[in-house]
Amino acid sequence: MTEALAWATQRIDAASDSPRQDAEILLAHQLGLSRGQLFTRLRETLRLSDAEAFEELVARRVNQQPVAYLTGEKGFWTLTLKVSPAVLVPRPETELLVEWGLEILGEQKSRIADLGTGSGAIALALASERPEAEVIATDASPAALAVARANAADLGLERVQFRQGHWSEPLQGEVFDLIVSNPPYIRAGDEHLPALRHEPLSALTDGADGLQCLREIVATAPALLRPGGWLLLEHGYDQGEAVRGLLRQAGMADIATRRDLGGQERATGARQP
Ligand code: GLN
Repeated sequence: MTEALAWATQRIDAASDSPRQDAEILLAHQLGLSRGQLFTRLRETLRLSDAEAFEELVARRVNQQPVAYLTGEKGFWTLTLKVSPAVLVPRPETELLVEWGLEILGEQKSRIADLGTGSGAIALALASERPEAEVIATDASPAALAVARANAADLGLERVQFRQGHWSEPLQGEVFDLIVSNPPYIRAGDEHLPALRHEPLSALTDGADGLQCLREIVATAPALLRPGGWLLLEHGYDQGEAVRGLLRQAGMADIATRRDLGGQERATGARQP
């Protein structure tokens, strides 16, 4: 297995920033082992059928398919989520919205909305931490909602409600303490998009300047917040100023931006006065 891992690491190198880790995850997945278990068995020889299947996984990774699509799952917050090409692979930086949301919520009973939930990552992480909260998540894509609902069932979080529609459209007339969203914010033609081609384009880019969905959300979501309720938005590293401007124009208070682990402005939030 040691040689198989070295070979795979070298092949994956051009397609990934973490070739060794990717190779280990894919080999462990093929063998039905944890990565920890894999390390205790590195001296063993791979069976031919496993070697062939591993080669196929490596070839797909070289073609820039996300590791999470190849294994069918991704860790987010404390949860393991199922993912498929119908949903964006949850990113570690999005945990920033979960962390910030939990600070705002305290322990009281509250109503939370997640707009454009994809795999359900943010909604399910918040629900797992706040058993008393009522959580409603929307997505325009029925295929994404099927993944999110399956995740809710797997995690015993069936109380999270899922509704189909754009952003806050399916929530008209309701009132929330917290609204969170990680909308598509990459601008059309951005140089990073080709490498992300296996993920749903509609979850990555608005096909315009990258701010279109953020504008739409800021134009419609604050009306659903109770006075004192918060709106938290993920955005691109260079969009902090623009998002703060949108929230100012919408009359929101306490506008603040937080940075991700890479030091980039990544989330901006504000309170309904
Ligand atoms: N953070 C993601 C990326 O750059 C983009 C996610 C999004 O557009 N919401 O890969």
